[in-house]
Amino acid sequence: MRPFLYERVEAIEEAVRPTAIDVPAVAAPRQFIAGGTNIIDYMRLGVTRPEALVDVNGLDRTAYGRIAVSDQGLKLGALVRMAEAEDNEAIRTGYPVIADSLKLAASRQIRNAASLGGNVLQRTRCLYFRDTSWPCNKREPGSGCAAIGGINRMHAILGTSDSCIAAYPGDFAQALIALDAVVETVGPQGTRRIPFIELHRLPEDTPDVETMLDPGELITLIEVPAGPWTRRSRYVKVRDRESYSFALASAAVALHLDGEVVREARIALGGVATIPWRARTAESLLKGRLLDEAAARAAAEEAFAKAKPSGFTTFKLPLGKETLIRALLETKAMAV
Ligand code: SF4
Repeated sequence: MRPFLYERVEAIEEAVRPTAIDVPAVAAPRQFIAGGTNIIDYMRLGVTRPEALVDVNGLDRTAYGRIAVSDQGLKLGALVRMAEAEDNEAIRTGYPVIADSLKLAASRQIRNAASLGGNVLQRTRCLYFRDTSWPCNKREPGSGCAAIGGINRMHAILGTSDSCIAAYPGDFAQALIALDAVVETVGPQGTRRIPFIELHRLPEDTPDVETMLDPGELITLIEVPAGPWTRRSRYVKVRDRESYSFALASAAVALHLDGEVVREARIALGGVATIPWRARTAESLLKGRLLDEAAARAAAEEAFAKAKPSGFTTFKLPLGKETLIRALLETKAMAV
């Protein structure tokens, strides 16, 4: 590992002080660290080489490490640990898709350490991204993509480009995008609110630019609005090993039902897309319809209508559809 500066801050102004280096946040020489479960890994591998790490664990926990549940919804400080949110009774009963997605994301040791703010910014586990001996447009813009035509079984079939097919690796983000979450940030330019659905960027020609955060901009809060669909919500994850693995396919579903008829459906897909993926056309298809297996299957066909499987990812098309069908029917069957 290369030498780097380490700075622990206790005030938000110190954390986000302006920097003269104008590069995307994820590649910036000055990066934030909280749980460190992703960035330390990639520093060891030489994938990320920050000149300075800014440790934000000293920030006021009553402001940035708090869980608040009210009639308006849920507020999650960015320093809340995954396990803390997953264990919160109000989240388990009122927002089970969030609790499920956190619980299924990683080992308990990692969930005890990893912050929610860091979790949504975790980077891909593409093998070629992790191994610096291979060309990778995300790690080294313009160098090529070894995964296209390579061993790409874990890669995406939705939202891909000719430059990158890496899958977004997280689980929590799918729950957030399905529930219309918003993130609050603080940066050198001040505070702003970003709809979660706009946070991650499609790879297109610049897979190295993964989010719309500015250099030095820090996520401080995640807000999830209340709604009649949050209690009847579920996250289904299919992976190689049930104990601990990244998703081959996953689905976050939230339903507002009138008997067996869908008033409102929220659907997000994971393991199959380059960013947390909201399936809005599939949601529209279900609205006003009796939710049975045929309706769930039609929604799944719609959700994957624009998928581009190839090579080793061909299996993800049927797997993704079956995962969504299962998630829809299991969510419908929940006792709420
Ligand atoms: Fe790099 Fe993306 Fe290609 Fe993986 S899929 S090698 S991350 S450019």
